[in-house]
Amino acid sequence: MQLSEFSDYIGSLLEISRFRDYSPNGVQVEGRADIRRIATGVTASQRLLEAATAWGADAILVHHGYFWRNEDATVTGIKKRRIAHLLQHDVSLLAYHLPLDAHPELGNNAQLAVRLGLLAQGHFGEQDIAWHGELRQSQTLDQFAQQITHSLQRTPLYIGDSNRTLRRIAWCTGAAQSYFEQAVALGVDAFLTGEISEQNVHVAEETGVAFIAAGHHATERYGVQALGEHLAQQFKIEHRFFDMDIPV
Ligand SMILES: [Zn+2]
Repeated sequence: MQLSEFSDYIGSLLEISRFRDYSPNGVQVEGRADIRRIATGVTASQRLLEAATAWGADAILVHHGYFWRNEDATVTGIKKRRIAHLLQHDVSLLAYHLPLDAHPELGNNAQLAVRLGLLAQGHFGEQDIAWHGELRQSQTLDQFAQQITHSLQRTPLYIGDSNRTLRRIAWCTGAAQSYFEQAVALGVDAFLTGEISEQNVHVAEETGVAFIAAGHHATERYGVQALGEHLAQQFKIEHRFFDMDIPV
């Protein structure tokens, strides 16, 4: 499998040209042309790069790559070390940000919904990235938090009445806490995302809509994994997901 063919396929699968994003989607650092073994991970940290190259990856696919809008454009410090590692090993880095949140089957929000039994009914937020719908069956906030702990192997932080019954829910993986008030306006019982900010606590308390912070990393593990599995089947290549767990 040639890198160019591989990246063209993913680009059209995830419809990358449809999105206005904060970082480039597709090949960010070019390595060897021939792809037989792909590693996936949430973030292209040094830890992930080292694990993936030790395994012998030809390309690394991530949700959080490099070259974010507004970041210092120079290749210095940790960015220099990361890029040097990729170039020394002749390994490509491919990153997919918003297109991987949004994909209707392989995306982070779709995959989280499968894991938590959330039935999608619509979208909201910037570029329709966030989802809303219903729980498969009503349960209390405390029961739902326990289900999340079990499914994601991480205890969520939540703000709200633990005995409140939840039915309607809105969700967006990662750092989507700024969508909380839009979710409240939709009339949901709870909003689930990865991270929480101070002001979310007050909005939750004063509206009665529960806020659930289930972890940025924990909620975004599943899209890139589903993409890797899909590509492995499609192109008969090897895939391995590297879960570089972090507490956020
Ligand atoms: Zn993210």
